[in-house]
Amino acid sequence: MINTNEILNKYDLRLTKTLGQNFLTDANIIRKIADAAELSEEDLVIEVGPGIGALTVFLAEKAGKVIAIEIDRKLIPALEETTAPYKNIELVHADALKVDIDRLINGWPGRVKVVSNLPYYVTTPIIMMFLEGNYPIERMVLMVQKEVAQRIAARPKTKDYGALSVGVQAQGIPSIMFNVSPNCFIPKPEVDSTVVRIMLTDECRKRITDYKVFHECVRAAFSQRRKTIINSISSSAYLGIDKQTAREILSELDLKEQVRGEELSVDQFILLSNLVAEKRKS
Ligand code: SAM
Repeated sequence: MINTNEILNKYDLRLTKTLGQNFLTDANIIRKIADAAELSEEDLVIEVGPGIGALTVFLAEKAGKVIAIEIDRKLIPALEETTAPYKNIELVHADALKVDIDRLINGWPGRVKVVSNLPYYVTTPIIMMFLEGNYPIERMVLMVQKEVAQRIAARPKTKDYGALSVGVQAQGIPSIMFNVSPNCFIPKPEVDSTVVRIMLTDECRKRITDYKVFHECVRAAFSQRRKTIINSISSSAYLGIDKQTAREILSELDLKEQVRGEELSVDQFILLSNLVAEKRKS
C-alpha cells in the first residue's frame, strides 16, 4: 500500500480541490474496489485520475494492463515513482474527456473495464463519455458522490430519476456496492461517497438503434423536467422532429400526449428513440 502522506511530503504536493483531488488512504476500501472489478490477466483497465497511484498499483497486481489517465502534471513524477515496479501500467498525461478511448483500447484481445475513484466535478461527463462512445466495455466500477450513485440506480417517477439514470440503465445494470466514509480520503471530501458497479452487456446495448439520437432524446426530455415529451423532443435542433411527428411517435407507443420524461421507463425511452431515429431518416 502506498504511503500517501509520505509521497505527498516527498514531492511537496498540495492537492487541488478544483480537480477533485481526494486521495484514498484506506487499504481495505481500495481492495474492495479492486475486488468489485473481478480482475484477471485478460483485463485491460482504464483508470481515470490515478492521483499518486494508490488504486492503480492494486489494479495492476491482478489486471493484464492498466491505462491510467491523469490530468495534473504536478502529480506525474510521484506517479511515475509509485508505479515504476509495474510494467503493465501505462501512464497517460491528459484530460480523460479529451483522449481517444478507441485508440487506447484498440487491439486488446480481452475484456475492457473502467475502474476509478472519479474526480467528482466531472462525474457525469466522464460516465456519459464512456456510454455514448459505445465502447466494448464490460463493466465500470466507480467511486462517486453518494447522491450520484442514487441517481444512477433510480427508478422512474422518483425525484432522483433523470438523464443519468436512463443513460446508464439503457446500456447496463447498475448496483450500489458499498458506501465510503469521508475519513477514508486525504483531504476529507465534504460529501459521502459510494462505489457503484455498472455491468454493460451487449444484450442491453443492441436494443438501441442510434446512440446519439437516444442520448439526445434523454437529454432533451430531462433538460426541463416540466416539459412534455412532445415539446422536448420537437424542440431539439439535433433530432429535427416536428410536433406532429412527435405526436405520432407517442401514439405508436400508446403513450398519452401529456407524458413527461420522468414518467417513461428506460425501455420506453429506448423504443421512443428508436422511432425518432427511424422517422428522422424518412
Ligand atoms: N485515484 C486516486 C485515489 O483514489 O487516491 C485519486 C482520485 S482523485 C478523487 C481524482 C483524480 O482525478 C485526481 O488525481 C485528479 O487530478 C484527476 N483528474 C481530475 N480531472 C481529471 C480529468 N479530466 N482527466 C483525468 N484526470 C483527472
